[in-house]
Amino acid sequence: MESQRTITGKTKIIGVIGSPIEHSMSPQLHNSISKQLGIDMVYVPFCVEENELQDAVRGLKALNVVGFNVTIPHKENIIKYLDEISQEAILMGAVNTVKKTDGKLCGYNTDASGFMKSFTNQTKTTVSGKKVAIIGAGGTARSLAVKIALEGACEISIVNRTLGKAENIANILNNNFTNFTQALLLYSSEGVTALSKADIIINTTPLGMYPNIDFMPLSSDFTFSKQQIIFDVIYNPKKTKLLKLAEEQGCTIVNGLGMLIFQGILAYEIWTGLEVPNIFANKIQNTLLA
Ligand code: NAP
Repeated sequence: MESQRTITGKTKIIGVIGSPIEHSMSPQLHNSISKQLGIDMVYVPFCVEENELQDAVRGLKALNVVGFNVTIPHKENIIKYLDEISQEAILMGAVNTVKKTDGKLCGYNTDASGFMKSFTNQTKTTVSGKKVAIIGAGGTARSLAVKIALEGACEISIVNRTLGKAENIANILNNNFTNFTQALLLYSSEGVTALSKADIIINTTPLGMYPNIDFMPLSSDFTFSKQQIIFDVIYNPKKTKLLKLAEEQGCTIVNGLGMLIFQGILAYEIWTGLEVPNIFANKIQNTLLA
């Protein structure tokens, strides 16, 4: 809690737009980075409903904020209100970070880079040359799939409850990259086979997230192999039912907290042009868990 912070006429503003926004950890995360780096900048949550998005974006541009994060439900819809979008964010179909540069609002996606940084940090390996299975086919799945394709995975399986949505992501990947990508139905025998053969399994569904902690996206008799890495983008609870089961069977497991922290750090670096030292990631993690 930063009760002693002094706001002056020179204090710069960053923030996040979304709805709901009350439970966002981003204000703590970014204000903690500014405090630790001694930067005179405050991060504010703005509750913005879907029908107010355009007005909110115009307002933030006019108010000359340094930039802002974008969260549910605006990550896709915001694209049409921005002046420029990074190539990666166009393919991902989602923007979570906006920076005002030379009077223009430029959109980026740091969710997937945050995932990649967390993955490498925790597992000391990369996705290059690996078979990756992604469970889910929503916004997060699409962003991660594009990044994983860019990073050179040899095979990507999108395994989802609704096959059509998995096929949409597979088409985007197959039209833009040379990796082999397939769309499969969750709980089908083909889906289970792809998950069993994958080097890396990533859960991008909300199954298992607080308060529904007894759910998981695989049947409870699913058999992992010890060599598999299981990444769950959920960070509350820290160990989902899926991660517990995988850990019991000897797999390497990673939760979504590192991804959350690194996507924030990467956004901060875009806004300020500074490099946030890696050591801060651990300090920030402790602040968020306190
Ligand atoms: P989304 O666009 O709504 O996609 C959710 C996906 O989960 C869909 O493909 C959906 O399947 C599937 N799903 C939902 N309920 C299901 C069920 N009961 N059974 C089977 N599949 C189900 O959501 P999102 O924006 O990608 O976010 C997904 C999760 O990622 C959330 O838990 C979010 O908190 C987390 N997240 C974490 C971070 C981080 O930094 N750690 C960042 C971003 C998001 P259908 O296609 O069949 O509907």
